[in-house]
Amino acid sequence: MANVNIKINGMPLSVPQGSTILEAARIAGIRIPTLCYLKDINEIGACRICLVEVKGARGPVAACVYPVNEGMEVFTNTPKIQKNRKTELELILSNHRRECLSCVRSGDCELQALCREYGVEDETRFAGANPVEDIDDTSPHMIRDNSKCILCRRCVAVCRQYQDCGVIGPNERGFATHIGCAFDQGLGEVACVSCGQCINVCLVGALYEKDGTAKVWEALADPTKHVVVQTAPAVRAALGEAFGMPIGTDVEGKMVASLRRLGFDKVFDTNFSADLTIMEEATELLERVKNGGTLPLITSCSPGWIKYCEHYYPEMIPNLSSCKSPQQMFGAITKTWYAKKNEIDPKNIFSVSVMPCTAKKFENTRDDQSAAGIPDVDVTITTRELAAMIKRAGLDFVNLPDEQFDNPLGEGTGAAVIFGATGGVMEAALRTAVEWITGEAGGPIEFNDVRGTEGIKEAAYTVGGLTVNVAVASGLANVRKVIEMIKSGEKNYQFVEFMACPGGCVNGGGQPHQPGEVHNTVDIRGERAKVLYSNDAARELRRSHENPVVKAIYDEYLEKPGSHLAHEILHTSYVARKKY
Ligand code: SF4
Ligand code: SF4
Ligand code: SF4
Repeated sequence: MANVNIKINGMPLSVPQGSTILEAARIAGIRIPTLCYLKDINEIGACRICLVEVKGARGPVAACVYPVNEGMEVFTNTPKIQKNRKTELELILSNHRRECLSCVRSGDCELQALCREYGVEDETRFAGANPVEDIDDTSPHMIRDNSKCILCRRCVAVCRQYQDCGVIGPNERGFATHIGCAFDQGLGEVACVSCGQCINVCLVGALYEKDGTAKVWEALADPTKHVVVQTAPAVRAALGEAFGMPIGTDVEGKMVASLRRLGFDKVFDTNFSADLTIMEEATELLERVKNGGTLPLITSCSPGWIKYCEHYYPEMIPNLSSCKSPQQMFGAITKTWYAKKNEIDPKNIFSVSVMPCTAKKFENTRDDQSAAGIPDVDVTITTRELAAMIKRAGLDFVNLPDEQFDNPLGEGTGAAVIFGATGGVMEAALRTAVEWITGEAGGPIEFNDVRGTEGIKEAAYTVGGLTVNVAVASGLANVRKVIEMIKSGEKNYQFVEFMACPGGCVNGGGQPHQPGEVHNTVDIRGERAKVLYSNDAARELRRSHENPVVKAIYDEYLEKPGSHLAHEILHTSYVARKKY
């Protein structure tokens, strides 16, 4: 594409034609502040924070939507522009419930940060509506508080464009405008899939997960409880960000050390049950292929995807793997095999999971998730909530030593750790399935066709005379495209991996917040995924069926993958839910 010559703040610059002023300024190393802008998702010029002056223009223009043209002269930081931005912020604050001292986002709030940057001292310069608390707590996983909402619409765009749900949007008009569900129903009354992607992009304290930490603190202080914790693969790839560490830092060892210091009796790893999932799911796949079962088999690890399927495509329920997710398999084994082996009454085990995902909070409340007659998992907290616990406990996270998970349920292979990235479950299953089909040890380890952060990936593998067509999709808008291709007969797959969150669990709705400016300029999900692939490559055991504890559990307890008992303990069922 041809370039155009412009000047920004007097500096000559050549930038691609079609760039916006915001993009051109970035090329010049000049940051123009934004609030509502999310690249490719929410480019609506609504908040007016990115206003700049353009020579010859009638008034300031929004840099996020205004294209450059030949000879343009832009001024990004004049006294007039600085005053404009400060006034915009004061107007936003005029009908914002200001309670920074106790707000869930204090210290991590994009509005708060900009107010400091622009020297907003009088938060009440304009008398506004002074909203009172306006809470929607009807969903199982999150709170919406419209008294903090600044109407940036990032959540609306993500819910519709990434997640194909569109269950939230602007209601009413003018001063009465507010974000909500149709007919102002609660989020728990509509077909929200609990993915939390809206929370990830909310720049203030208007959206946040339901707090599970109080129950965890209580259990940790109760001497009658044996408190075990499991951590999902993707948590170790992002937790460090909450402590100022660079995106893409593997903090597995420090995470374990911090959990031990918080007082958990056992610090275990969801990697263990990810391996167990592969044993069950690969068995299910081979059985369906051999016996003419419903194909394609679709993975069931992502509760956001499962809820989407139940609401929007209930006719695909027979395609779902009946395997519980790794979170739930872990809880089930803890309260059955582990409890028996250690002579602990399962009622005295308090099972905590740390997940990158808000939909896991919904999942542990589902029916048919109680192998021992009590919930498999008692409380799910997100990566963000774990960070908050570590901070409250005063732990110097960055300087903690690296420690190892406890045994036996801390044992996991490389195949398990890549579950946290899109394509990881597929690759893990293929590593095992290939060996089972050929009956030969030492099959391929890396399946590069299903790696990477693209929304949809496809591959075909021929093993032992059997050809398996596979597809991987993440982000529910991509999932929808693949389902439609399956339903129309355009594609014929045998095995499909779906993850609700774009990029997979590394980009889950419970991961540490990153400001819009980072979302717009850094491949966050790609950087976090690299952590998992490096972690996998560094492990001696990289196939799920090599996990010695998984082998022991089949020998001692479950008998074999797909056994009657395995089905009772490790499998589940699904229900059709209403779409509207
Ligand atoms: S959303 Fe931000 S500005 Fe508003 S009360 Fe919370 S921390 Fe303060
Ligand atoms: S949790 Fe997901 S589905 Fe629900 S409102 Fe947020 S983005 Fe939409
Ligand atoms: S809830 Fe958050 S993301 Fe959604 S419009 Fe309000 S401030 Fe923006």
